[in-house]
Amino acid sequence: MKLTAFKGGIHPAENKITAGMPVEQMTAPKMAVFPVSQHLGAPAKPVVKIGDRVLRGQIIAEPGGFVSVPIHSSISGEVVAIGDFPHPLGLTMTAIVVENDGLDEEIGYEEMDPSGLDADAIKKRILAGGVVGLGGATFPTHVKLSPPKEKKIDTVILNGAECEPFLTADHRLMLEQGDRILSGLLIIMRALGVERGFVGIENNKPDAIASLQDLAKKHKNIEVAGLKVHYPQGAEKQLIKTLVNREVPPGGLPMDVGCVVQNVGTAAAVYDAVALGKPIMDRIVTVSGPAMKNPKNVLVRLGTPFFEVIEYCGGLSEDTAKVIMGGPMMGIAQYTLNVPVIKSTSGILAFTKRDVDENAPRACIRCGKCVNACPMGLMPNELVKAIDNKDWELAEKLNVLSCIECGSCSFSCIGRRPIIQLLKYGKAETAKFKRNREEAEKSKAEQAGKN
Ligand code: SF4
Ligand code: SF4
Repeated sequence: MKLTAFKGGIHPAENKITAGMPVEQMTAPKMAVFPVSQHLGAPAKPVVKIGDRVLRGQIIAEPGGFVSVPIHSSISGEVVAIGDFPHPLGLTMTAIVVENDGLDEEIGYEEMDPSGLDADAIKKRILAGGVVGLGGATFPTHVKLSPPKEKKIDTVILNGAECEPFLTADHRLMLEQGDRILSGLLIIMRALGVERGFVGIENNKPDAIASLQDLAKKHKNIEVAGLKVHYPQGAEKQLIKTLVNREVPPGGLPMDVGCVVQNVGTAAAVYDAVALGKPIMDRIVTVSGPAMKNPKNVLVRLGTPFFEVIEYCGGLSEDTAKVIMGGPMMGIAQYTLNVPVIKSTSGILAFTKRDVDENAPRACIRCGKCVNACPMGLMPNELVKAIDNKDWELAEKLNVLSCIECGSCSFSCIGRRPIIQLLKYGKAETAKFKRNREEAEKSKAEQAGKN
């Protein structure tokens, strides 16, 4: 197939230390902490109380709205607390704490043949399984598979690029459980009435490409493509450009160009939820980085505290200065290791003081490297100035809302400026500014209509 390159982007050191390490199953934690918000949208609502006994796979919090999903317990045991606990996305959030009784009793799961299910039944089972985008976005999958009628979808793309340095969780999943992924892709295609499916994988994973290409021989409508190693190849808009040469318009979504993009891990979870009736209870986490003693890929029960996962991997070196959740480009620094593994925990990475010092910020020298690196054609240096000045009108004009938060600008900045943190803040404030302006315009127009 013909692939198209996207503009901008970077090539950070890959550091895929754990690429050759098969996934190890970690023991269940003594105590598991389940935040009710592990997805974009409304937090789930607890349906258990302190003292209740719960089983593995049981719903402990129900969806809080349409854009929301249930939360399930990954262990059997007793609910011992419901309250505010540290969350890996920062600050504290409501969580349900379950103490493990060591019995690992599970609820029963109802298997079904997906080929006998219509789109609504598929989406119902995806919702019941608590499935969200496992690449990090955590957008509820049943919502993503419900585009408005006027948006005709003709292509599903699975993202197996895993372009973030260090992370190898998706790589191992593709190598070890490719059938689950392709079965999930076929279910997603069925739910959307789509005939064409792609899996895009960066060329630094030739074994995964070969393995999925071999499995895909059974399916005429699925194509597995090797992609140039180029960050952020795994971003939705870049993946669509590369694979089907369509441009998502600024401020638009993949569905505007007939595409739905899902992560390979999400496809595997879709298979579990729809065909096996099993919710998300565990995930593969890459535990790595220069300060991690024994880097590994580990299958971890959701709710397991980071410190237990790190202990399982031999602990941290003495000069550890920073631990992040996710990859180094888009990951989130942790202020405590007392946070739980959640649905979006693709990695736990640890860095030394030296790594951190090398990245200490300096003044902008107006070199323009961030502009060249931006895959969305933005001017990060100018955006940072507008955000510093709280000039949301200018930030909007400079298109801050099109930023995909890939971190290419921060990475390429000689001054190691914290551009990405400022952009995240600037995007949120500009969106608020835009909303307020639109509401004011609307009420002015309504008022004028009345007079
Ligand atoms: S401005 Fe946004 S989209 Fe552009 S490189 Fe920076 S983080 Fe990526
Ligand atoms: S790359 Fe850094 S130093 Fe260069 S213009 Fe951008 S913000 Fe300034």
